[in-house]
Amino acid sequence: MNQSVGFIGWRGMVGSVLLQRMREEGDFFSINPVLFSSNNSGICKPSWLEGTEKIKNSYDIESLKKLPILVSTQGGDYTSEIFPKLRSSGWNGIWIDAASTLRMEDNSVIVLDPVNLDVIQNSLKSGIRNFIGGNCTVSCMLMGLAGLFHLDLIEWVSSMTYQAASGGGAQHMRELLTQFGIINKSIQGLLDDPASAILDIDREVLSTQKDISLPVKQFGIPLAGNLIPWIDKDLENGISKEEWKASVETNKILNRKNKGLSSVIIDGLCVRIGALRCHSQALTIKLKKDVPIDEVEDIISKSTKWSKLIPNNKQSSITQLTPVAVTGTLNIPVGRIRHLSMGKQYLSAFTVGDQLLWGAAEPLRRMLRIALEN
Ligand code: NAP
Repeated sequence: MNQSVGFIGWRGMVGSVLLQRMREEGDFFSINPVLFSSNNSGICKPSWLEGTEKIKNSYDIESLKKLPILVSTQGGDYTSEIFPKLRSSGWNGIWIDAASTLRMEDNSVIVLDPVNLDVIQNSLKSGIRNFIGGNCTVSCMLMGLAGLFHLDLIEWVSSMTYQAASGGGAQHMRELLTQFGIINKSIQGLLDDPASAILDIDREVLSTQKDISLPVKQFGIPLAGNLIPWIDKDLENGISKEEWKASVETNKILNRKNKGLSSVIIDGLCVRIGALRCHSQALTIKLKKDVPIDEVEDIISKSTKWSKLIPNNKQSSITQLTPVAVTGTLNIPVGRIRHLSMGKQYLSAFTVGDQLLWGAAEPLRRMLRIALEN
């Protein structure tokens, strides 16, 4: 008989992509999905999910604890509230989660199986029950650069990110598109007139961006035609929580401490931009020794099945290294690789990943398969 698996948060940005991917891969043939939602106002299960039970209340511990595996893409507040109650009720099932809440706990593993399958399998054997998806920029970066990490060639990395609106969730993506629409409408007449003055357009756009009626509930300020140089909480030491995650999560995913290896320092600034999907990152990499560029390229291209080396020229970069080129694909292109003028051990790289796929849904989908096979 098929194993029952509970899904919480399936309506959201990550949850929608997770269900879409599971459908594409035929994963629903081998499970009996049980859907949960915190919203009971007429939410219907997806029409293609025939035969599943009615949607259950995601705060109902009794319903949740009946299931041997739960997959949550609902968010950190939900995990913080429900997970401790579930465990203290005696539930010993497998918890697979997209939220950051439990990532750094000792009894949790951050899952990214093309990079750390050994860690996942050993943890399952040793009785670990919490498997958490990593931070989206960290997972996408590792999917591209894993080869350099596995060969222990990296001393440190500085990452400057360009993160898409959907990284904040479904409502954030809607807000950005609404802002674009309002701004476009405000200058439609001027755009239609080829003789209109560009500074009039510029002035009108800025005035619309600053208008207090522009919807900014999700981002706090306009993102359309703008950027936001801060993502996630302020840790009040000059570092954003998103920036803090880079080093700690990378080293945990790679299990460097338990392997007796020193931590690789990864630090930089995380910036929200007006792309819809995909997080991009400009990386400065300090290698531990000189490695010729063709060797670096070879190592990167073999990092994982999905890493794709993009030749460092204009045409390849502008056509293959962008959010538009990568959205909806599992490819992790890595390009702009060259020695920087600081010295032979300093490399540049630019990488793009669909943060809703490798940065969120795909590691969870694959973890579910691994859990079902064990
Ligand atoms: P989200 O889109 O905001 O969805 C979370 C929940 O919001 C949904 O499950 C749904 O729950 C509720 N919701 C309310 N109004 C909605 C609407 N109009 N459309 C869809 N859902 C609506 O959040 P998310 O981006 O999926 O993030 C979920 C978790 O994954 C977070 O912990 C986040 O940090 C993490 N994560 C996100 C990304 C990313 O790129 N977005 C990447 C990695 C990790 P109900 O059905 O209960 O109402």
